[in-house]
Amino acid sequence: MRPIDALVNALPEGRVLTDPDVIDSYARDRTFLEPGKPLGAVLATSRDDVVTTLKWATEHRVPVVPRGGGTGLAGAATAGDGSVILSVARMTAIKELSPADEIAVVEPGVITADLDRAAREHGLMYAPDPSSYEISTIGGNLATNAGGLRCVKYGVTRDSALGLEVVLADGRILETGRRTMKGVTGYDLTGLFVGSEGTLGVITSATVRLRRAPDKPPATFAAEFGSLRDAGAAVSAIMAAGCQPSLMELLDRATLEAIDDWRNIGLETSTIAMLIGQSDASDSESVVKRMEQLCVDNGASFVAVSSSPQETEELIGLRRMAYDAKERMGACLVEDVCVPRSVLPDMIMAIEAAAVRHGVKIATVAHAGDGNLHPVFIFEHGMAEPPPEVWAAADEVFKHALGLGGTLTGEHGVGLLKRRWLGLEFGPVAQEMQQGIKAVFDPLGLLNPGKAI
Ligand SMILES: Cc1cc2nc3c(=O)[nH]c(=O)nc-3n(C[C@H](O)[C@H](O)[C@H](O)COP(=O)(O)OP(=O)(O)OC[C@H]3O[C@@H](n4cnc5c(N)ncnc54)[C@H](O)[C@@H]3O)c2cc1C
Repeated sequence: MRPIDALVNALPEGRVLTDPDVIDSYARDRTFLEPGKPLGAVLATSRDDVVTTLKWATEHRVPVVPRGGGTGLAGAATAGDGSVILSVARMTAIKELSPADEIAVVEPGVITADLDRAAREHGLMYAPDPSSYEISTIGGNLATNAGGLRCVKYGVTRDSALGLEVVLADGRILETGRRTMKGVTGYDLTGLFVGSEGTLGVITSATVRLRRAPDKPPATFAAEFGSLRDAGAAVSAIMAAGCQPSLMELLDRATLEAIDDWRNIGLETSTIAMLIGQSDASDSESVVKRMEQLCVDNGASFVAVSSSPQETEELIGLRRMAYDAKERMGACLVEDVCVPRSVLPDMIMAIEAAAVRHGVKIATVAHAGDGNLHPVFIFEHGMAEPPPEVWAAADEVFKHALGLGGTLTGEHGVGLLKRRWLGLEFGPVAQEMQQGIKAVFDPLGLLNPGKAI
């Protein structure tokens, strides 16, 4: 019997897909990368399905690629030849939501925005909100340590992760962390799994922290600038002034053009960059006034405060559609560098210079308040690989970010796409420790091989 037939027999009927045309869509994430030819895709609906799949994989030495919503931008959920995809997207139960303890216990396939909506019914919120929050899953967010728009004030996914249930490569079940706000018993295994990109185990349940939702809608402003550098300087000034925005997003001209081309937003020719900022503090109106003034002081040509929740929603909606708009222009290589906030203008200049020097189109959007920039290198649709000038420009941008004390990836993870630069950020000792950790959890190297480290 072929190993895949043994898996089909071991799981309840209908759990395993083997038609190559059908499984192809489960083999990709949102990058341009072409997957290999996996043996099949498991659509798990319970922890038992995950345990059965991983025990089978260990017995037959088959690599397993865990998968949530498939919205990743690093190639981390791209399936290789001879692997099995393990999708937990159908595990969507919110098992507990405790207003008293301000926590939720959820299965990994819960869509991020669904958890936030459920929390709002109790006056709470789930803070991490990647732009993809209507299509990404909590399991995927944990495995990539996803950031988002509100993270500038409330922290990234790691800051909301309290405890996990994980199925290890050999099928054993590991419980990590706790449901309390504090706790230091033993090593922080929860933190270790957050951002591990499916290389250490498969998350089947998560206890996450909720927070009080602000009791009134946030105050929001948009500012337009004639130069990207000025917009970056405004962000640095706002953060240095201690305004504590609850959102601080930057869009460059190329991004705004992509959105305008799609949704006709009436983009002015003089607008080179737009900053969208928000405060949800109790004195949000006066905080936004201070932020507006700092934008003017740093060269903003136009500043306006949103006049209604609907206008705010439309404005934030523009930001959330940025990546989809760019995908309409061509294939995208997305970078995710993060630099100390004080050097944001310097990083922005370096990206602009790399675009000119290498003659490539770069459209940048940034969680600017976190110093986290997404220069998106756009090349022709249908090319199997970015052309050499795109790789050269990407290389320059990564190296510049590291030179400024930054990191290769603020929130998307390493996946397949950033492995070639890992050695620049890690020294040999750190690399050896990372490999050692992988060997403890997954001695046969079956979980998402070739990704992340
Ligand atoms: C339009 C758009 C906007 C985006 N905006 C943001 C943003 O603002 N911030 C941000 O951080 N990211 C953003 N992303 C990237 C992406 O949405 C995030 O990385 C997200 O966390 C991936 O979640 P997913 O459920 O789609 O995971 P997948 O893409 O399915 O998987 C991602 C990684 O997680 C692993 N994984 C998934 N589920 C599990 C599990 N249960 N156990 C173990 N490993 C698992 C996979 O093996 C893979 O390594 C955006 C993507 C798009 C398309």
